Amino acid sequence: MHDHPLHRVVTAECSCCGVEREFEFTSRHEHVLCKGCRRHQGDTVAKVKQRDFDHVKLWHSEIQILNEDHEGEVERLQTVIDQRGQELTERQTEIADLQRVIQDGFERTPPPTVENWLINKEVKEAAAQRDSAYRARDRAFRALWAVDQLHHEDEEHRGYCICGKRASHCKELNAIADATEALLTWENRERNRLRNGQPDGLPDNHPDVLKYGRNHYPTWH
Ligand SMILES: [Zn+2]
Ligand SMILES: [Zn+2]
Ligand SMILES: [Zn+2]
Repeated sequence: MHDHPLHRVVTAECSCCGVEREFEFTSRHEHVLCKGCRRHQGDTVAKVKQRDFDHVKLWHSEIQILNEDHEGEVERLQTVIDQRGQELTERQTEIADLQRVIQDGFERTPPPTVENWLINKEVKEAAAQRDSAYRARDRAFRALWAVDQLHHEDEEHRGYCICGKRASHCKELNAIADATEALLTWENRERNRLRNGQPDGLPDNHPDVLKYGRNHYPTWH
């Protein structure tokens, strides 16, 4: 009797030699015996001798396999150690380069590792400047949008601003007249960004924001 699962490949210890092998059992009553051990079952002197002989051979080869696995593992670890060592050397080169820059100042061309760092820094600074330009632009357009909400030409009352004044007499309407086209372009683009789940510059009380909500918190607010 054994309690290994049936009809699938399982790893189990042979009840005779004790070595782990793959089995596929079809019955609970099957003996857990590996192929090599099946032939030396029995109580005759010949079978017992055969069993000892087979087991010594088998265990010997098992030990060799284990040793080979071990060597493989040692080799793998050595590779990892070598890689770490190389990374460490690279870091040390960078540190040495940096120390040189600190000592010499920037009169001479910086070493390549430091130059790479500076390039990255420039890219980051440019990106930060771009974002801050976007922020400023959006702030301006939001202010313009707020004025436009209160002062635009009344479609049902031609020639009048919705604030009630004659269009030609509304200071606010005339002040933003030049910018309304740019405002519309900006607003449409930001509405698209909102709809695509991208950060947008629309004001929080914009009808689209109220209607659809935001997936994204705007990055440059
Ligand atoms: Zn066996
Ligand atoms: Zn055996
Ligand atoms: Zn007005």
